[in-house]
Amino acid sequence: MSFTSLGLSAPLLKAVSKKGYTTPSPIQEKAIPLILERKDILASAQTGTGKTAGFTLPMLQILAEGQTLRKRPVRALVLTPTRELAAQVYEDVKDYGVFLDLKANVIFGGVNATRQIRSLQQGVDIVVATPGRLLDLHNQKALSLANVEILVLDEADRMLDMGFLRDIRKILALMPVKRQNLLFSATFSKEIKQLANTFLHHPVLVEA
Ligand code: AMP
Repeated sequence: MSFTSLGLSAPLLKAVSKKGYTTPSPIQEKAIPLILERKDILASAQTGTGKTAGFTLPMLQILAEGQTLRKRPVRALVLTPTRELAAQVYEDVKDYGVFLDLKANVIFGGVNATRQIRSLQQGVDIVVATPGRLLDLHNQKALSLANVEILVLDEADRMLDMGFLRDIRKILALMPVKRQNLLFSATFSKEIKQLANTFLHHPVLVEA
């Protein structure tokens, strides 16, 4: 199996080869074609499996294909439990999107919000965020989630362990109902399944 056979476009294949990857990992092989078909997915994947590229590559492709508005409303939101993971995912989004005309931003707590607000004002296609600071900035009207087409919950089990369920529910209510949802979790507790049931639409199960 090669990256070419997964249906990825030339700018993404170029970015993948620039990273030095030659073969997709099992989660990438399974998730990328399904995401490109616009399916909701419920994926079990540990860190280290290549899950980030598994959702980032097809997400970037969908956004690049559907790019129409010059204003750049937020069209994809990736939620992560920690700022370290948010920063890591943001770096990957930039690396994989290097040959595309998409803008990304990262938002997390513990640092001054002014710079984050200022860069949001310039328009951004993709936001990678931790839930609490995202809601803070939304309350301050620094961004709108009314145009989100793709939502990713990364390490959803850790988000629940950290007490983010209420925040996640609030964030879900701020987005259009019609959107694609991707949930990644290392474990599948009752709570994760319940959360998945509330917002995933006929999800396809993917295991790494
Ligand atoms: P992740 O599970 O997303 O945290 O990725 C784990 C590590 O694997 C990261 O350092 C990636 O850069 C790397 N990686 C992701 N996909 C591939 C691939 N297909 N081949 C080689 N390395 C990869």
